[in-house]
Amino acid sequence: MAEIIDGKKVAADIKEELKKKCDWLKSVALDVPGLVTILVGDNPASESYVNSKAKSCDQVGMRSKIEKLSKDISEKELLDIVQRYNDDEQYHGILVQLPLPKHINEEKIIEAINPQKDVDGFHPISVGNLVIGRETFFPCTPNGIVELLKRYKIPTSGKHVVVVGRSNIVGKPVANMLLQKKDGANAVVTICHSAAKDLTVFTKQADILIAAIGQPNFIKADMVKENVVIIDVGINRVEDSTAAKGYKIVGDVDFNDVFAKSSYITPVPGGVGLMTVAMLLQNTFHAYIKITNQKLN
Ligand code: NDP
Repeated sequence: MAEIIDGKKVAADIKEELKKKCDWLKSVALDVPGLVTILVGDNPASESYVNSKAKSCDQVGMRSKIEKLSKDISEKELLDIVQRYNDDEQYHGILVQLPLPKHINEEKIIEAINPQKDVDGFHPISVGNLVIGRETFFPCTPNGIVELLKRYKIPTSGKHVVVVGRSNIVGKPVANMLLQKKDGANAVVTICHSAAKDLTVFTKQADILIAAIGQPNFIKADMVKENVVIIDVGINRVEDSTAAKGYKIVGDVDFNDVFAKSSYITPVPGGVGLMTVAMLLQNTFHAYIKITNQKLN
């Protein structure tokens, strides 16, 4: 029977650790880390993500600002605003909430962020550094996954990690992180996607299965081997007439089906999802340390 990986507790622990560091900075009259989140338009989901990031900053004692912009802002105006925050010493992390309206080239905006402030880890320089194993900002959800494995002392070296999903925000970066020849990684990694002819051939080999698919309850017990470690990244809304909101959130893994066969499993909600914001705060803290140390030297 599986041990449940408690993302809620680990995320709370990380926030507590960061709060202590920020309290200390304040106690010696030093500046605290600052995060600016740039939100374009009025997409309710984006607005709620941005608000929760700002709230988390407040909880740990970091400075935060939401730069809310009209959906009609031009690409040039947005580039100028990003540049303004690149130069603003109060903000050590810059996050542009995606998706952006269609008339704005997302890649161009991400590339305009100073890589030293790229706390989302989406800048091509951060991505390149990740792939070649250099120190960099790791994207928050993959970083959260690796952190959960570390904190639960789940060995990865020499283990076969099978990642289902090859997105730039989850599948590819988590695979690359776990592939590196270093502590907390050093895994043998397979990446699968929708063109896999027989997915089960791959998933059955996994010592650690990371599901980042976007399909509710997709991974079933007959697709995994005994004692597998299951990391479920999926966040899917499914209708539920018994729920007050008329829906509930489920993962990409059929939790009840797979539970008895696995050694560790992340629940949804309460697993990976809560780690993302915690890792964003941690990245912002690292950005602060790097930028302020450079100023001191
Ligand atoms: P994407 O839609 O960008 O990617 C999904 C991936 O799954 C693609 O690579 C796709 O293959 C693959 N895939 C889809 N169907 C199948 C299938 N039948 N067999 C094998 N592979 C398949 O999703 P994201 O990576 O952005 O997100 C994945 C899930 O994680 C979502 O539920 C999302 O909500 C959640 N998520 C959670 C986060 C958090 O916890 N904070 C953060 C980000 C995402 P192909 O490339 O061939 O299309």
